[in-house]
Amino acid sequence: MRLLPLSPALRGLALAGLLNAAAAVQLFAVTEPAVVLRDPTVRAALDAAKRNEPETVELQIMLNEIPAPPFGEAVRAAELKRQFERLGLKDVRIDKEGNVLGTRPGEQPTPHIVVAAHLDTVFPEGTDVRVRREGAVLHAPGIADDTRGLAEMLSVIRALDEGKVVTKGTITFVGTVGEEGLGDLRGVKAIFNETLKDQVDFFVAIDGGSPTSVLNTAVGSYRYRVTFKGPGGHSYGAFGLVNPTHALGRAVGKIADLQVPTDPKTTFNVGRIGGGTSVNSIAFESWMEIDMRSHDVASLNVIRDQIIAAIHDSVKAENARWKRGEVTVDIDLVGDRPAGSTDPESPIVKTAQASVRALGGLPTLSTGSTDSNYPIRLGVPAVTVGRGGIGRNNHSLDESFDTTDAWKGPQNVILLITSLAR
Ligand SMILES: [Zn+2]
Repeated sequence: MRLLPLSPALRGLALAGLLNAAAAVQLFAVTEPAVVLRDPTVRAALDAAKRNEPETVELQIMLNEIPAPPFGEAVRAAELKRQFERLGLKDVRIDKEGNVLGTRPGEQPTPHIVVAAHLDTVFPEGTDVRVRREGAVLHAPGIADDTRGLAEMLSVIRALDEGKVVTKGTITFVGTVGEEGLGDLRGVKAIFNETLKDQVDFFVAIDGGSPTSVLNTAVGSYRYRVTFKGPGGHSYGAFGLVNPTHALGRAVGKIADLQVPTDPKTTFNVGRIGGGTSVNSIAFESWMEIDMRSHDVASLNVIRDQIIAAIHDSVKAENARWKRGEVTVDIDLVGDRPAGSTDPESPIVKTAQASVRALGGLPTLSTGSTDSNYPIRLGVPAVTVGRGGIGRNNHSLDESFDTTDAWKGPQNVILLITSLAR
């Protein structure tokens, strides 16, 4: 199969909207997964992934027990680097941001496929991340999201090796930092802005539920930290002074009444509030953190503008109510995850669906917020595929991972990336 790399110039045009991104990516030819499945080396790799699953689970447990709180992924990153080296990847390194990279060279540099799973969890420093096993089920914070993704990546690397799979294109495996929460995709942003700038032809993230899911639509979000400030004073002695906490309360009340479309699904949430000095003080500072999401950029911008207007109106209302002192507000953008989608007709989405089908599954297109958000915004063909197994109660202390048939996850990734890399 002949492969035509998409030149940076063409990609520039696609980004500028001068060239349809789907038309541009069609310059790559990929091989049907059903055809790739007949390759004995690929079949051997699929068998290896299934056979090695018990060891994949052991790696998953080992990695999970290395805490990786937001902005604290370094120890887990060092272990992943060691695993990449052990499995014989080339050019194994940690970039400036903290992402771990390792390359499996093909016969030629392109197409260059990046496979990623995220190192970080949502859990703060000090969370008990030891794994409790109950039959086929593993219990621990982070065990599914996304420690399973990391273990699955290691399973894929090992299986490709044991199957002696030779690809035309080159595959780089990446453990990313900062996917969750206020990490704000800092790892994947660094990959595309710096570490592998203009060098990625296909991006496949392993994150999320069933291996039959093909996530091609990125739910975008904005997150704000809003700080209300005032002079502060005694609750009795200074009564009559403007109150930042009251301004905050007015804002929450207005936000709670906002209307959003159900299609495209658009959401908002005041996630945390805080501040104040004591029960008998008029606060000098109060704050809140707000998250809003939609896969539709226009709807996301509408709710953002309404929320910002509600905050300013509330400050005005508080100052007008008391007329003594002044509440001011700082609205800081602390999260910006882009919305968008990879064309369902594009080769990467078609191939991801065909790969699920070739392995006997029924593919579904899905929506979510993952490392793929960023390449999707840049117009780089990207999907996020499921992990295999069943993750439950993600982002909670009760998180669990049912390992039943979990080998289907790595098998799916193997077939997808060997099809893209033919
Ligand atoms: Zn995740």
